[in-house]
Amino acid sequence: GGQGRLSVVVRPYGDGLRLVLSQDITERDRAEAMRRDFVANVSHEIRTPLTVLHGFIETMNNLPLTEVERKRVLDLMNQQTERMQVLVSDLLTLATIEGSPHPTANTWMVVADLFSRLENDARGLSKGRHPLRFVLDEGSADVELAGVESEWLSAMGNLVSNAVRYTPEGSAIDVRWRLLPEGGAEFAVMDQGIGIDAEHLPRLTERFYRVDGSRSRETGGTGLGLSIVKHVIQRHGGDLRVTSEKGKGSTFTLVVPAARVRVRAAERTV
Ligand code: ADP
Repeated sequence: GGQGRLSVVVRPYGDGLRLVLSQDITERDRAEAMRRDFVANVSHEIRTPLTVLHGFIETMNNLPLTEVERKRVLDLMNQQTERMQVLVSDLLTLATIEGSPHPTANTWMVVADLFSRLENDARGLSKGRHPLRFVLDEGSADVELAGVESEWLSAMGNLVSNAVRYTPEGSAIDVRWRLLPEGGAEFAVMDQGIGIDAEHLPRLTERFYRVDGSRSRETGGTGLGLSIVKHVIQRHGGDLRVTSEKGKGSTFTLVVPAARVRVRAAERTV
């Protein structure tokens, strides 16, 4: 296949009929093309650090290095290894959550606890470079969230780490959880960082899609973060929303459905 097939369909339209001409690329062709792209992308992402590692090994083999130089080369090799480890770990996460349409484990977790873990991780990442404001709205102190804890942490954590990575030093990042009046809740990460041009927004959650490849890689990005976020929120029945303006900043919001949010059982008044 690959090429698809041109077809003409007649459909009722108002009082009459309408001819619809369509290029029918079958679902199978599309899946096949996506799989090919994916394998090519993964291969490329792994080949780059491997090539660098190979070069360093050659260097160590062929050149007499001072102790300081040796240490420097080993540090760089370590960085490349870590890069591959993060990539493989993101790939495994994706494979796990793509494999099954719905979360298997379904437990309740305390949102305030998730929040303090996220805040700790964010402080580690930012290393004091950004004012970080984590705010749980009033009434959320005893709220619980249902689903797979590791998945929620990964989705929320990816959004927070992106905000840190794409925001220059000194500019604030706000992370907020609030219950929605219509039910459910919202987890929002707001930054005043580099922002994203509108043309890129529809493609952000594609695997390996990056607006600026070198900035992503320099800050340890794999290009898989937002596709993980999208899968996690969809599996939990919610939505990912993005608003952004180039040069002004971005807001990424997870909209959590009512069925996944409750007030902690022990605190419930009857
Ligand atoms: P990466 O590992 O490259 O950050 P993601 O899937 O998490 O991969 O994000 C995809 C791309 O979206 C990033 O490469 C970056 O260009 C853009 N992006 C994500 N979050 C932000 C943000 N908060 N501000 C600006 N750009 C962002």
